[in-house]
Amino acid sequence: MNKNVFFRFSFYVSLSLLVLFAGKVFSQEREAEPADNFQMEVYLTQEEALKLVFPESDEIVTDEIIMTPEEKQHLEQLLKRRLFEDGFIVYIGKKNDEIQGYAIITEEIGKFHPFTFIVGVKPNGKISEIAVLVYRESRGGEIARKRFLYQFPGKSFKNPIRINKDIINITGATMSVQYMCAGVRKVLGVINEYYLNGKREINVTKEGNDKKMQSSAGVAHRNLNEKQSKKGDEASGKKLVKETRMIMGTFAEISTYSNNVKNAGAAIDAALNEMERMDALLSNYKKDSELSRVNREAAKSPVPCSAEFLEFIEQSLFFSELSGGAFDITVSPLVSLWGFFNEKGHIPSDEEINRLLPSVSYKNIEIKRNGDKKKPGTVFFKHISTQIDPGAIGKGYAVDKALNVFKKYGIDNACINLGGNIYVLGEPDGKDAWRVGIQHPRNKNEILGYLELKDEATATSGDYERFFEIDGDRYSHIIDPRTGKPVKGTIAVTIVAPSGTDVDALSTIVYVLGKEKGLKHLREIPGAEALIACENGGKIVLYTTRGFNEKFTRVENEGKTDVTWHVVSANQQ
Ligand code: AMP
Ligand code: MG
Repeated sequence: MNKNVFFRFSFYVSLSLLVLFAGKVFSQEREAEPADNFQMEVYLTQEEALKLVFPESDEIVTDEIIMTPEEKQHLEQLLKRRLFEDGFIVYIGKKNDEIQGYAIITEEIGKFHPFTFIVGVKPNGKISEIAVLVYRESRGGEIARKRFLYQFPGKSFKNPIRINKDIINITGATMSVQYMCAGVRKVLGVINEYYLNGKREINVTKEGNDKKMQSSAGVAHRNLNEKQSKKGDEASGKKLVKETRMIMGTFAEISTYSNNVKNAGAAIDAALNEMERMDALLSNYKKDSELSRVNREAAKSPVPCSAEFLEFIEQSLFFSELSGGAFDITVSPLVSLWGFFNEKGHIPSDEEINRLLPSVSYKNIEIKRNGDKKKPGTVFFKHISTQIDPGAIGKGYAVDKALNVFKKYGIDNACINLGGNIYVLGEPDGKDAWRVGIQHPRNKNEILGYLELKDEATATSGDYERFFEIDGDRYSHIIDPRTGKPVKGTIAVTIVAPSGTDVDALSTIVYVLGKEKGLKHLREIPGAEALIACENGGKIVLYTTRGFNEKFTRVENEGKTDVTWHVVSANQQ
């Protein structure tokens, strides 16, 4: 009997500025749930939630915990679960300078989407308040109601918070209840470890009446606390301004150092809004996006499209030409056939694959312009089953668009991160470069090393992001459009190149083409460098181009023997 296990290793990685792990995560762009099932219920803004939790406080301060890998591991052991975050923002409510309680606004991934909630904890370790800020599932919303949440206040970390034992389940919402229980334990664990056990000295930034606090979907936070930025003494004293939102099914985060917090906040907001606009244009799970409309109608007759949408398609076609079809946004029907859209991975028959192959070709996309490049036009699919999947390029493209918007605010430094597609502008305060950690492809708790980057982008394509296993064989979400089958041999590719679009597309291209051909194609993009990880008989072999090596520092993990390094020349054939 086949053992069929579907994995999604989609751990969102560090929000720390010291090391940003470049795993691409929560790739939820493709989901089992139909687009129109998705609902977003915003119950409370961040400001309202904090007021609810600290009704009496005259001051709310924030403290940002950035965990070391060891601390994270310890917390995971304590909680007996994996954590997707590497840090927490903790709000501390005070009255007359006396601590009244702690609160964390956090997220758990429900069945398909994350939900955001706040848990307030009294100095005696007991839960004082709990509330949901945003719920994004079509079912299970009962967990946001008071008649469910009343069960939590009074409980502390000593209480295991088991479903059906400590917390009464809600029929039909079991998964949501489970995730909520796990999320509450997480908050209690953090507050217990760091504050109630005295591990952390509280020396925090005041943020009580900060009207700029994010008050939209509630998933965002802005950290005005510079204490944790780990800057050297040479830093100029600029503040770290940072905001995170969920966009394109993943975390979008922008950080910048600035003397003008107001302007920096406005720049970050505008850039994140631009990413959201890109999502509304390019999403293949939002029914009303331009892309979804094209997917529905373009096989019947030419579909009128905006100049902006056509530009995106043209960029994609450019990379298809460049890679001889290894990169192809019409791979969609194959991604679906292998079960990556509904997370029911299975091996299709050769017949099924062969039947779909004619629909999969970028040459099936016909663009017509009404004049010059700035004008709208039409898209037509020459094959009845052709469909577009922007998954391999859309996030990088959105990063570039966000960067353009951000630059208009005249700020000279930023780290723009959309699910591991990262562009770094200038230098962080007091440092020469931004550091981006590269995740070990087989051990999510380890990094291979880190890149030091300035005015360039990086992204990683890896088989660990989304895959299923049958009889011990791994089938990854990156498919060779020419064979119709998941790519084998390569397990991860990290690219450094001048733009977000370049790195996103190239990481997929080099992944599909493999080391030899991949390196050859890299030459066509000036400034592109790569790290390619291959697996051979259980051993990981890593190849880096010389230019990559110059920006990269390996981390020697103790006793690590599973990795062999080779430095290769990019024009090696
Ligand atoms: P990335 O993680 O950027 O390499 O993108 C991978 C995603 O792009 C997959 O989850 C698919 O949705 C899609 N995809 C898979 N194979 C290809 C391919 N050969 N060309 C373009 N898109 C692909
Ligand atoms: Mg890509």
